[in-house]
Amino acid sequence: RAKSEGRGTYRFFEAKMGAQVRERRLLEHDLRHAVARGEMHLVYQPQTDVRNGSVTGFEVLLRWRHPERGAISPAVFIPIAEESGVILQIGEWVLREACREAATWTNPLTVAVNVSAVQIHAPHFVQLVHESLFRTGLKPERLEIEITETALIRDPSRAQSTLRQLKALGVRIAMDDFGTGYSSVSNLRAYPFDKIKIDGSFIRSVDANEQTAAIVRSMLGLGRGLGLPVLAEGVETDAELRFLAAEDCQAAQGYLMGRPAAIEQFARFTHGNQLKP
Ligand code: C2E
Ligand code: MG
Ligand code: MG
Ligand code: MG
Repeated sequence: RAKSEGRGTYRFFEAKMGAQVRERRLLEHDLRHAVARGEMHLVYQPQTDVRNGSVTGFEVLLRWRHPERGAISPAVFIPIAEESGVILQIGEWVLREACREAATWTNPLTVAVNVSAVQIHAPHFVQLVHESLFRTGLKPERLEIEITETALIRDPSRAQSTLRQLKALGVRIAMDDFGTGYSSVSNLRAYPFDKIKIDGSFIRSVDANEQTAAIVRSMLGLGRGLGLPVLAEGVETDAELRFLAAEDCQAAQGYLMGRPAAIEQFARFTHGNQLKP
């Protein structure tokens, strides 16, 4: 009896695996046509100066509205797009679209674009960035490329050379999700980062948990020591923001200051004055 039960469990497991693989293949297939079919769009989330609350720029976040399944989270589709290589085509669209949008703003705010490992290691990435800037007329210093540490480890020397070429264009580079990858500290020395983004998981409860507070304080100290500005991600409460202000954190981003939304929602910053959202 035990044996047949075991087999039943195994079959169930196998069936579930099969369903997951099929699901993944379907999404992968649909992803290939998502841009051309107009299913992708961008939302923008404000980044603010902690001292005065002014908006300094926006992070661009990709959204996919699947015709049958509705909104699918980037946490689900980005990894599939990366593994299948479709991220190259999608990422190219994101970069062009973001530069085109930012170039229309009367206020010269920055636009931060997420770039994944596959893109960083692709042969023509620097050329693509150059072309996007050139075609849209966006000043290079207004573009910030966000990269996680894990995106660099595939081929560190290649990644290093790519980042240096991007810097040479005048583009800025931010380390995303700081604290969640491997050997964070040595990466800050090995690559030419201009900014550190502390992962939102450290900001949660930073005002309530002494251990988390100590970690965030040391990250801010590291930024100060290296002369790199630090942005805190995922700021949701006043108490978190007060903590960051008291610890001299320069920049913040999170639901408290503004949820990611269509850029039209932020016209008062892109085209008006830049005061508090
Ligand atoms: P990320 O770059 O670290 O982006 C921050 C994520 O935190 C976003 O999730 C954002 O919506 C969310 N967030 C912002 N403020 C708060 C807050 O106060 N509380 C909480 N709980 N969350 C907050 P999202 O949009 O789902 O994106 C997830 C990840 O997908 C991004 O993490 C990024 O790694 C990736 N991604 C998004 N757009 C792109 C893209 O165009 N290209 C690439 N390669 N990756 C992208
Ligand atoms: Mg990011
Ligand atoms: Mg992040
Ligand atoms: Mg992330």
